[in-house]
Amino acid sequence: MQRITLLGATGSIGSSTLDVVARHPDRYSVFAMSAHSKVDELADLCEQFRPRYAVVGSGEAAGQLESLLRQRDIPTEVAFGSEALCAVASHAECDTVMAAIVGAAGLAPTLAAARAGKKVLLANKEALVMSGQLFMNAIAASGSTLLPIDSEHNAIFQCLPVNYCRTPGNHGIDRILLTASGGPFLNRDVATLEEVTPEEAVAHPNWVMGRKISVDSATMMNKGLEVIEAHWLFGVAGSQIEVVVHPQSVIHSMVSYVDGSVLAQLGNPDMRTPIAHALAYPERIASGVAPIDLAKIAQLRFERPDFVRFPCLKLAYDALEHGGSASAVLNAANEVAVEAFLERRIGFGEIARLIARVLDRTPAQPIDGLDGLLEQDRAARDLTRQLIRE
Ligand code: NAD
Ligand code: MG
Repeated sequence: MQRITLLGATGSIGSSTLDVVARHPDRYSVFAMSAHSKVDELADLCEQFRPRYAVVGSGEAAGQLESLLRQRDIPTEVAFGSEALCAVASHAECDTVMAAIVGAAGLAPTLAAARAGKKVLLANKEALVMSGQLFMNAIAASGSTLLPIDSEHNAIFQCLPVNYCRTPGNHGIDRILLTASGGPFLNRDVATLEEVTPEEAVAHPNWVMGRKISVDSATMMNKGLEVIEAHWLFGVAGSQIEVVVHPQSVIHSMVSYVDGSVLAQLGNPDMRTPIAHALAYPERIASGVAPIDLAKIAQLRFERPDFVRFPCLKLAYDALEHGGSASAVLNAANEVAVEAFLERRIGFGEIARLIARVLDRTPAQPIDGLDGLLEQDRAARDLTRQLIRE
């Protein structure tokens, strides 16, 4: 029985994970789950999955959850805050941690899971984008298994040799072909991109996801973060990672080898596939996802990404090239800018311009530890907020 700590249980990845877990009660049990503020939803999930611990974002939310659980006679213990998240992610009685909190808030508990040698299922790409080498070192030092949940990276993982190790120049890999749907604005007149609304930006053509990642998909910052994520996960240089726009989202990514072979992983766009893959790895289990009907799909299209339409993608490549804290600064500025866009305080085009200004004004520094990293994250957020106010 695999005992799972699910960080971000009330989110889109959280609910897909619980859907797969519920199909296999003989294999998986939920040891702990977290939610930031959706107390009622979390209480329902506790009732269904009976975790030992539930963690929320504040003392107030903890009090509310506690009383809901006691009313229903559910024995789950309640805790709150970042330290509690780290505690359930590194607890001796948990085997596997699904890191599905959105954004930088997920870094500390995900890193705690890595340090404790847990099997880490990584959806929270921002954590890896921020911490890079620090995170990979923690995984290596503890001997923990890191499995990608992001559909592209899970696809790449499946297309790599079984004995793949992150040694550059190894295994005859020529390039990683990272597919991108292009999001809702792939074919929209560029001149009108300034005036798009949050509602239009979060309406992804193929995937149903949380609001932040949906906006990231519309700017293609999501693909930029994924380039950086792929660099760290698979040890390939940015110049070897090529983004291919593929609007149908049927091929989830590919690996191109020096002999001309290209291996791809295909499937319906449903996160339960990579989640089931990572949960059961190296076995396979049913995920509830319907098999693809190729004749119905009929055609697969590919095109090159347009850096003028999607400046965020270029900013991410540049940040990876700069190294050090540049990717963390990019991520921090993006999180603040996306939030401001969702709250209608800035326009869509302003997201990329803000990130570029923050990167320009923040020299990249080496990352020496979690505290220093969080300090740089904070400084980049402060600068972004200041620029928004101006
Ligand atoms: P979501 O917004 O639906 O859910 C986010 C979860 O994080 C919620 O459970 C929320 O309670 C929790 N959370 C939010 N802020 C928090 C904070 N400050 N502290 C603690 N917990 C907090 O997001 P999602 O779409 O499920 O995405 C989760 C992560 O997975 C993101 O990093 C995203 O990039 C990644 N991801 C998502 C998808 C997808 O299809 N949704 C695909 C690939 C990768
Ligand atoms: Mg993805």
